Amino acid sequence: MHEHSFIEAILKDVNNRDDVKEIVLEVGELVGIETRHLREHILGRFNWVVEIIDKDSKVKCECGFEGRARVVERLHDIVIFECAQCGWVPEVLEGKDIKILKIIYN
Ligand SMILES: [Zn+2]
Ligand SMILES: [Zn+2]
Repeated sequence: MHEHSFIEAILKDVNNRDDVKEIVLEVGELVGIETRHLREHILGRFNWVVEIIDKDSKVKCECGFEGRARVVERLHDIVIFECAQCGWVPEVLEGKDIKILKIIYN
């Protein structure tokens, strides 16, 4: 199975992997991975309960638009998105990170 750098980043924050019972992640919609796929990766390696909360994006564009980006296409590792108003590439304010909201240990 291939690897994604952000999965390693998540694992780096988990102290003792064998003690983890459950992990709650917040995944921005502009992160280049589908939540279903992220879940498969984690479940493929660990015996954890994984809860994933999707977070909407927030972008800011030169045209004045500020709000949720329009997702044009979702490929395996990247998300193509644009300003929902003018179609230009906006600045991302929120929605590009994976955050660990909670880790429950045994
Ligand atoms: Zn993958
Ligand atoms: Zn715009």
